Amino acid sequence: MVWRVAGIWTKGAALTLAVAMTAGCGAQTGLELLLSNSESTTARIDGRRPHDAAREQGAGEAARNADNARPEDANLAAFQPKGDRAAEDADERAAAAVPPVKLEQPTGGTPHFSAKQGDKLIALTFDDGPDHRYTPEILEILKASSVKATFFLVGTQLKKYPDTVKQIAADGHGVGNHTYHHANLAKLNENEIKQEIKTTDALFQEAVGYVPRLVRAPYGSVSDVLQTVVRDNKRELVGWTVDTMDWNGATVAAMRVNVNKNARPGGIVLMHSFGSKHLRNTVKLLPLIINDLRAKGYTFVTVDELLAAKALNKKAAQAQGKKMG
Ligand SMILES: [Zn+2]
Repeated sequence: MVWRVAGIWTKGAALTLAVAMTAGCGAQTGLELLLSNSESTTARIDGRRPHDAAREQGAGEAARNADNARPEDANLAAFQPKGDRAAEDADERAAAAVPPVKLEQPTGGTPHFSAKQGDKLIALTFDDGPDHRYTPEILEILKASSVKATFFLVGTQLKKYPDTVKQIAADGHGVGNHTYHHANLAKLNENEIKQEIKTTDALFQEAVGYVPRLVRAPYGSVSDVLQTVVRDNKRELVGWTVDTMDWNGATVAAMRVNVNKNARPGGIVLMHSFGSKHLRNTVKLLPLIINDLRAKGYTFVTVDELLAAKALNKKAAQAQGKKMG
């Protein structure tokens, strides 16, 4: 499948013209016009937000998925116009002239959490919000079920809906940085990656009073540079183990089967709270999988809690190993 995306920015509003061409996939050729700055969430067209379907894989594979298997994100296309070699060289010179971006240390998200022996922990995650439509409904369901989840938020949305972010934090959920522009970080240099994270960090700081430790790469697209940035800045890169494909119009029944089939202790389930017209199904799916997984003995935790529990387990295993050795 080949996707070609052309994007231009205009002052004040991002006007993106995306032409999608597919080969070998049937009836998926289309011309779409999107006003990214529109307040209307319904203006987002499905397929616009290529989602995060690349699982936790090698960086190369994930990058290939981001390149080939998905329509490019409109914002991303606008953010990274394709240029010829001369333009790229000019970009590189401009980047070199920019003073290095420095990230703040994360100040939130390191809970002391220890699971009991034999606990089956699982984390529900929601990407790309917040918004005023699906995120509040998801929060209601989570509250009614006493489930804590984790929201990976995009800076452009954070800026529009800081009150929803405050509600997420007030309800005790975890949050993570999902870049400012929903950028494909594997295509950015170190400074650009840091800028994407930093701008969003500042919005978190303003809305909830701390800088989150968790980072999730849009499209699951990870490079060595990104891994280095994350490691050097005490961040944690978070993937997923179950992709519901909710953004892509998967039916509630199919998603329910998928989650039940692929849920494992220590797993992370990927859903969305913004970015697709299909998220009504996510709202319908959520109470069903909460019931299903509880019936199987799972305990819902935030990603921070899951990582803390895993770190403790590792320590205990190492201690055990030393004793045995
Ligand atoms: Zn995303």
